[in-house]
Amino acid sequence: MTCFVPEKHYFCNMISSFSAQLEQWYHQFGRDLPWRGTSDPYLIMLSEFILQQTQICQGMDYYLRFAERFPTAESLAKASEEEVMRLWQGLGYYSRARHLHAAAKQIADAGTFRRDYSFVRALPGVGDYTAAAIMSFAFGEAYAVLDGNVQRVLARHFGITEPVDTTQGKKLLRALADEMLDRQHPALYNQAIMDFGACWCKPSVPLCDTCPLADTCQALSMHQVNMLPVKSKHTAVRDRYLTYIYTRTKDGQTLLRRRGSGDIWQGLFEFPVIESVNKLTSQQVDEFIHSSLVKANIKAKVELVASDFRHQLTHQRLHADFYLLTLPSAVESEEGKWVKESDLDRYALPRLLEKLLEKKG
Ligand code: SF4
Repeated sequence: MTCFVPEKHYFCNMISSFSAQLEQWYHQFGRDLPWRGTSDPYLIMLSEFILQQTQICQGMDYYLRFAERFPTAESLAKASEEEVMRLWQGLGYYSRARHLHAAAKQIADAGTFRRDYSFVRALPGVGDYTAAAIMSFAFGEAYAVLDGNVQRVLARHFGITEPVDTTQGKKLLRALADEMLDRQHPALYNQAIMDFGACWCKPSVPLCDTCPLADTCQALSMHQVNMLPVKSKHTAVRDRYLTYIYTRTKDGQTLLRRRGSGDIWQGLFEFPVIESVNKLTSQQVDEFIHSSLVKANIKAKVELVASDFRHQLTHQRLHADFYLLTLPSAVESEEGKWVKESDLDRYALPRLLEKLLEKKG
């Protein structure tokens, strides 16, 4: 067995016991998840796409619904974009749904899900982590996964103080992840270290008291558990102010527009919206309604339904105001097309709008 860092010989003795202890832990505490019982690469890919940026408890229903409606890559490839987005609604990060759909089309075109790393890695939305997960879980190939959970376990257990978001830190962790991989049982090992990171070696309050790796954990012995892994960059969060005008007619129609590319929620539907650098006054909202939304000179009732409703995305904090505009009937508007309110659930809306609609009741 090779030594990961020659000058630190303690790694040599830990390699096999580290993997073995994790696997032993997994046999006792590993999570029983629906996609663990399959070696179908398409279903594994589906679960991985859903679980990117999503908690297992939230993603589970979506996985089951997708797997039932689209049991094969071919069936998903044939679906319309609207149907895929509709089924994805509420899960957020909609680019994942678009990539999943595109990947299914690529697999269907190839005629099969090829057991080939280059093929898998070239699928839309598939990065190093997802490719390693598919190759090991579906095909039993020796590729080590390296996601946030795995980074944390490795950085803590081996006392890696190099920031994990630098080139040097990434290289170090990649080499360590590859070195620790149990090449005989890559699927078992990968699942074990991922679950261990999620359930035991958690970001805050890890369960060190009952950890099977405690005796060899460098972070624990050096009292650095809460300091590792180190990150060099702090990503700034941007504030955005959105004012939605939920426009309804007395005969049950509403105005809807589709979001374009190059921003959040691409391809999803929403009510007419104004984005501004600060919160708008009701007078500014009134001006927008009469200059652009409803040009006709008609009597309209406007009421503020929700103010400064917050919605957090990874790097953005959205502040939404929600106005209800009631019109006697549909009028010409540049801000969208009229649809029946009773058909609203056929359109994929961002989670923020769903929450606002729930609030309106
Ligand atoms: S002892 Fe604590 S920090 Fe170290 S591997 Fe175990 S849970 Fe993680």
